[in-house]
Amino acid sequence: MKVVIIGASHGGLQAALTLKKLNPHTEVILIEKRNEISFVSSGVVLKMNQLVDTLDEVRYLTSEDLAEKGVDVLLNATATTIIPNKKIVVYEDSNKDIHELNYEKLILATGSNQFATNLTLPSKDKVTVFKSYPSSVEVLEKLEKAKSISIVGGGYIGVELCDALKDQGKEVHLIESADSVLFRYLSKEVSSLVEQKIIDSGIHLHLNESVIGFSDLDQDMFITQTTNEEIRNDYVIVAVNARPDTTLVKDFLDLNTNGTIYVNEKMQTSDPNIFALGDVISYPVRNSYRKSFIPLVNNVVRSATVAAMNVLGHQMKYNMTQKTTATKIFNSYIASTGLTEDEAKFEGLEVESMFLTLPCQLPFLELQEEVHIKMVIERGSHKLIGGQLMSEKDITQSINTLSLAIDKETTLEELVTMDFYFNPAINQPMGIISRAAYEFLINKYKV
Ligand SMILES: Cc1cc2nc3c(=O)[nH]c(=O)nc-3n(C[C@H](O)[C@H](O)[C@H](O)COP(=O)(O)OP(=O)(O)OC[C@H]3O[C@@H](n4cnc5c(N)ncnc54)[C@H](O)[C@@H]3O)c2cc1C
Repeated sequence: MKVVIIGASHGGLQAALTLKKLNPHTEVILIEKRNEISFVSSGVVLKMNQLVDTLDEVRYLTSEDLAEKGVDVLLNATATTIIPNKKIVVYEDSNKDIHELNYEKLILATGSNQFATNLTLPSKDKVTVFKSYPSSVEVLEKLEKAKSISIVGGGYIGVELCDALKDQGKEVHLIESADSVLFRYLSKEVSSLVEQKIIDSGIHLHLNESVIGFSDLDQDMFITQTTNEEIRNDYVIVAVNARPDTTLVKDFLDLNTNGTIYVNEKMQTSDPNIFALGDVISYPVRNSYRKSFIPLVNNVVRSATVAAMNVLGHQMKYNMTQKTTATKIFNSYIASTGLTEDEAKFEGLEVESMFLTLPCQLPFLELQEEVHIKMVIERGSHKLIGGQLMSEKDITQSINTLSLAIDKETTLEELVTMDFYFNPAINQPMGIISRAAYEFLINKYKV
């Protein structure tokens, strides 16, 4: 079997390695337009938080590693055309020479680009998006020099950047058109805690404000015009509007209405010889009636595994996503899974919710930490629909427990009676998740 994969980021790499592990005789050729692979997009934040010394370290595989495993990697090779009836991919190398590659199965792992806007931007060296290694190197250099920075978009990228930029003597503005940060993942009770931390750190938080344009002031400075005010900046980071990259196939493959490539649960496109995975497709979200574009690496590696299995004839179906996320910002761990209350209502679910602050340890211990927990439950069935956690203690593994609970349609009653450990040096007799479910039930039934 000869498999060609276009795109050597998280998705393409996972598919290539899985194909080789399943059958070392599979011929796997990866085509990548950049000259490097496996860079992790949040490298800028890792470097600014001094978790790594250089951006170069923020990789987990080299093309030499892949070659050792028998994967052919073509770097600086841009796929320009696919001829599906002949099963041929045409690509251009760094010398602009054109080559043809035939395939038995093709995997599209072209991912997403981070930025699409109709705005007229200030000159290119004053505004940046970052995802790849070269763009991240550029951002780091420019951030270091910049004195007044606006970050457009209060999602994970924007908020993580704010955290990394705090205490650096720069004027930082975070501009978000919604009425809260991280609104796709957090309910108001939790997001307002994050917002307070952003404000306390000296960052200017602009909620309910959209950027409507930029105008140059002089060589260094420009105005970022929002719906409410004019901000003097010398640098802007745009952290919104990731879009799937379907350039190569939009004319002959079925697309979803949101612009992603249509795939069935085996990750097969409308052409049975072509599979797609990662950020270029949409995902079925548990308790939602639609598939959504959710650019998260946890979806990418799972869809890549499913695609590789099915390419080699093994039957594997993609499950669902709870869009589980976690981060550490402003000295707090924040994690989310499933639908927020607003999303659940939008999906037509009748839900109830509860927000609690619970102690982690027994009172006799010196270390005392607390967890903020939000749970969204379906009314009547008591099925868990969503959960969010925030704490200075690392509670990120608990979000995976909640994700599993949502996936398995676990009820509040089951969460109370499930077998979770107790150790007096670590937690309370009833752990955080059971305790939250317990309080929810008591509150519901008490007379
Ligand atoms: C700043 C930032 C931070 C993020 N942090 C997180 C995080 O903490 N956790 C998380 O889960 N997700 C995070 N994400 C999202 C995550 O990066 C994406 O979900 C992931 O990169 C998608 O992987 P992919 O393999 O589908 O595609 P991509 O990473 O988009 O890669 C696609 C690859 O295809 C190549 N390609 C495209 N077209 C062609 C062509 N014609 N020929 C050859 N090659 C081509 C591209 O060069 C690229 O290497 C972050 C994103 C950004 C921008």
